[in-house]
Amino acid sequence: MQAPVVLENVSYHYRTAVSERRVLSDISLVIRSGEIVILTGPSGSGKTTLITLIGALRAGQTGSVKVLGEELRDANEKAMTQVRRQIGYVFQQHNLLDSLTVAENVMMSLQLGDQKLSGKEQRARVEEVLTQVGLAEHVDKNPRELSGGQKQRAGIARALVTRPSLILADEPTASLDKESGRNVVDLLQTLCREQGASVVLVTHDNRILDVADRILHLEDGEIQSVSEAMSANTSQMLRLLDQHDPEASLYLSAFSLALTRVAMADNQMDDAERNAIREVLNSVSGLGSGEVDLVMELAMSQVRCRTALNGSGKNLFSAEQAAHFVESMQAVAAADGDVSDEETAEIRLIAEELGFPPPP
Ligand code: ADP
Ligand code: MG
Repeated sequence: MQAPVVLENVSYHYRTAVSERRVLSDISLVIRSGEIVILTGPSGSGKTTLITLIGALRAGQTGSVKVLGEELRDANEKAMTQVRRQIGYVFQQHNLLDSLTVAENVMMSLQLGDQKLSGKEQRARVEEVLTQVGLAEHVDKNPRELSGGQKQRAGIARALVTRPSLILADEPTASLDKESGRNVVDLLQTLCREQGASVVLVTHDNRILDVADRILHLEDGEIQSVSEAMSANTSQMLRLLDQHDPEASLYLSAFSLALTRVAMADNQMDDAERNAIREVLNSVSGLGSGEVDLVMELAMSQVRCRTALNGSGKNLFSAEQAAHFVESMQAVAAADGDVSDEETAEIRLIAEELGFPPPP
């Protein structure tokens, strides 16, 4: 089966009378059938521009945008509309019409799509989807009577009622609290899996990244690998923490490493243990929960790394990688013009732990 979204060398500029600004640079990507892809990136990195290009809501400029089998580069308005009808959109603002009931809002989406359903079938379909999103009791209400989370779930019902094979969601949780945001993405994930729909979900909410099969990160209009994105974010957070309070940062690292090692002594950390550590770190540091979470993640990855090395670490690196590893450690030790005995000893210890031949 053909991939529902194929982009090749896509670039995009915004032009004004006085300036031209490149917001997407040479983007190539494929979204496979049934895949849930999260698109992250800082504000202004081009996420909305990219998703509106995929959604046929904006005409392309450079490169090929193939969506649901249609090349959109030179597509006319009729072809664009045809593609749009096969896509379900969920926006940051739910965009429900207050002059209609919840059910009527969803019905409207069904009537705009080219579904050949009788009135009775349409009503049944609307009721079914509103039940799936947990709004069975609210079908005849006015959208104004719903909470933020309920409105966004109505927005999902409206996007899914036509059973589209592609769903595009631009920051659907941005205006929701943590719990409603979580509910909304869980729901989106479950329903899309059931229908076998592909999803592109834009977010800069790190807490929902786990629903993705794949994460794409945009930075200044370019796609980055997840590891590039993570290391950039992590080091930025750590610098902040260090500037914020260097002593606390050291203390916290040691503290969280110790607690994490205890929790992971049996090779797993459950939610109760995780929460206990978070509470302790929060109370000793007074840092925000994002910072505490980061410190915990780092401690956990250190412990995981240690555990992996103790067990099967011996074969983790090729001879060439091992040599490079040792050379790099020596270069760092020599950087201040003097390799101390402590530094030499530490390099030997690390090399031994990693199963490298003894360094010269
Ligand atoms: P994101 O969704 O990641 O925040 P956008 O795709 O909305 O990013 O915007 C990317 C960049 O393009 C931003 O710097 C934004 O200011 C600029 N931009 C967005 N829309 C327009 C427009 N209609 N005209 C000119 N510049 C725009
Ligand atoms: Mg945006």
